[in-house]
Amino acid sequence: MKKYRPKNVEEISKTLKPPWPHPELPHVAIAGRSNVGKSSLVNKLTSRKKLAGVGKTPGKTKALQFFRVDHKFILCDLPGYGYAKVSKQLRSLWQDAVLDYFDSDPGPAGIIILMDARHAPAKLDEQIVADVLPTGIPWMPVLTKADKVPRGQRRKVQMRVSETLKVDGDMLAWTSSVTGEGIETLWQEILELTGQ
Ligand code: GDP
Repeated sequence: MKKYRPKNVEEISKTLKPPWPHPELPHVAIAGRSNVGKSSLVNKLTSRKKLAGVGKTPGKTKALQFFRVDHKFILCDLPGYGYAKVSKQLRSLWQDAVLDYFDSDPGPAGIIILMDARHAPAKLDEQIVADVLPTGIPWMPVLTKADKVPRGQRRKVQMRVSETLKVDGDMLAWTSSVTGEGIETLWQEILELTGQ
């Protein structure tokens, strides 16, 4: 598989309000509950250590964060779902912003939904899928922290996720920001979604 390593990654904006940046470029959004390993994965994808803040207080990513990659497409880091400690009002402000972005024109070309491979999908994971499904935007489930799941247990995990989310188990990609597993495959998916 051809390796993709972006040469230029630039944070364009961090915002909760439209207009969403660069509507002329294809976007791929990355969603997941907080602590799923989203920041680590964005950093791993872009070979940066600190582009997205890792291990910060869960739920602290308060805005949609837009990165322009090689001047060709946009990666959007969505606010993590599941911020137990903030008010309902704030939570719905974030969710409204995400839904507005999904519904914008042209809107993201694809959405990657991250799930922690160590845990069975929770209500929050189902909530993300429920938010994404009605938009009709292509989405793909991606498991994080693969390094924590021995190969012998993967089939079981795959079946559990595919049954809960009603997706084909073979569609699930395994990734690890620690070992780099699955990063190439994920890049290929992102490039395909953005028509590169
Ligand atoms: P976010 O809240 O979704 O942005 O999650 P972070 O990227 O901040 O990661 C949450 C925690 O999971 C941190 O302690 C990370 O070090 C850890 N983590 C993230 N990715 C991986 C991974 O691939 N493998 C392992 N073992 N730990 C990870």
